[in-house]
Amino acid sequence: MKPSDGAAPASAPEPPSQPATSTVMAERAPAAGEDAPAGRPPWVVPLAPRLGERPRRTRTAAPPTLPATAPPALRPAWLPATTPTAPQAPGWWGQRPAPGWGVPPAAPARRGRTGRVLAVLAAMVVLLAAVFVVARPAREPVAQRQLRSGQANAPARSDPGTEALRLLQTRARAILDRDKSAFLGVVDRRRASYYTAQSRLFDRMATAPFAAYTFRIVNPSDDLATPSVRRRYAPARVYLPEVQARYRFIGQDDSPVLTHVYYTFVQTPDGWRIGGQGEARPYGADDTEIWDAGPLRTARSARTLVVYHPGDQVLAARLLTAADNAYAQIARSWSLPWERKVVILVPRDQHEAERLVGAKDLSGVAAVSSSSIESVRTGADERVLGNRIIVNTTNIKFYDRLNLQVVATHEMTHVATRKLGGGMPMYLVEGFADYSALRGIDAPLSITRPALTKHVRQGRFDDTLPADDLFRGSNDAAVAYDQGSSFCLWVARTYGNAKLQALYRSFAGEGKPTSFEQDARFRRVLGIGFETAEARWAAWVRRQL
Ligand SMILES: [Zn+2]
Repeated sequence: MKPSDGAAPASAPEPPSQPATSTVMAERAPAAGEDAPAGRPPWVVPLAPRLGERPRRTRTAAPPTLPATAPPALRPAWLPATTPTAPQAPGWWGQRPAPGWGVPPAAPARRGRTGRVLAVLAAMVVLLAAVFVVARPAREPVAQRQLRSGQANAPARSDPGTEALRLLQTRARAILDRDKSAFLGVVDRRRASYYTAQSRLFDRMATAPFAAYTFRIVNPSDDLATPSVRRRYAPARVYLPEVQARYRFIGQDDSPVLTHVYYTFVQTPDGWRIGGQGEARPYGADDTEIWDAGPLRTARSARTLVVYHPGDQVLAARLLTAADNAYAQIARSWSLPWERKVVILVPRDQHEAERLVGAKDLSGVAAVSSSSIESVRTGADERVLGNRIIVNTTNIKFYDRLNLQVVATHEMTHVATRKLGGGMPMYLVEGFADYSALRGIDAPLSITRPALTKHVRQGRFDDTLPADDLFRGSNDAAVAYDQGSSFCLWVARTYGNAKLQALYRSFAGEGKPTSFEQDARFRRVLGIGFETAEARWAAWVRRQL
């Protein structure tokens, strides 16, 4: 086999001026569609863009380097077995995309200092940053006043914060113990519809593979109940704090997943109970979880857990295989330690995926990676907690093995590198993830980067690396992705994969670098300034195409 792309030995960097013809990029796979229309040989399979990425992108069907069980390169087995012809298929193949597709959903605004961040695949760092600028709604500090006045009229032992915490502890224990009577024992039985809904919720949660589940009240003195909520429960006294749940799945989640829920606690004749939830708007909205939509099944290997609904076991098994292959692919490109475990959620359809992600339109998206973050009150630091890859089942179920593999490896590369922070330019964030995912494909740049190929051949290539905003919602997002990944490929081939990693890591942190800082990092890692690197990469691209 020929060496795959980016395989330049890290210990023996090649001179920057090395002609590209000496690289494997000049090699082409036999019958790899040389005469096919630009970037679309017959075996090219459509790949729905992932969140914020590559609208109308196509993928080559040249095989990635897969474990020994994978078929050799370019065997007929790589031919797409299916095409997205189902009526529900989104218009991401040769058609105009639905409005808004390809645009990463904004991170849902969260109250307080913690928040689940939908670290959109690639746009992970951007969204992490976005969360920090989400301002808490300004409002009168009525909550504390009400809490105090309430306390004045009630026995001291019924302090709602203390009572709510006790109820939450019981609820968490009941979830882990699968104790339905205990779970429902803290719910206000008089509210029949909510009680029934909670009973059904318990049945669904009982199918989730929880290893741990805890609650905390973020700020016990902060009561978010609005006058309309108080009227709804009047004359009963209510208490509506922001509650944070943390959970781990069995065998996964070195750090827990954070999620938010806003229970309305109500004082009943029998004591405090949970009377409702989701009533904290405009101050906060409950997160949606995959067990909200139905019971769960799991498929797992030593490293991967796929959580899905009954009926999707075939897709779950395929994702499990793709994810298990991806660890080795990522290890070829990324040597820093990471958890090396992922949880993949398979919602029933796109609508459920949108609810899980908090996005309005995922029609152009194949998968999303998400993390939770927790900022520390005393400083600007935040910890990244939990991680999930959420697939858009509506799109991804049509993918053949190669395309599923590319998506899995790309997303998992984001997970592997997520701790670097939000300061990295997108051409490196997305470029590195795509470089990692496409790296094993033994095919020329014209096949692996079709959007860039078309861009160059149309005379639109301006020899510059894409700005961050081109990765989000731009008509040229697909080009931007190809530019970023080809830049990473050029760095790896010219200087070695270790230098590419070093360049990526040099941008670790939260602050976006200035042009001067970017240039300094290039000089420090590659020994040449940014503009020189950019010009050499652009010349290399032109030679390839
Ligand atoms: Zn990405």
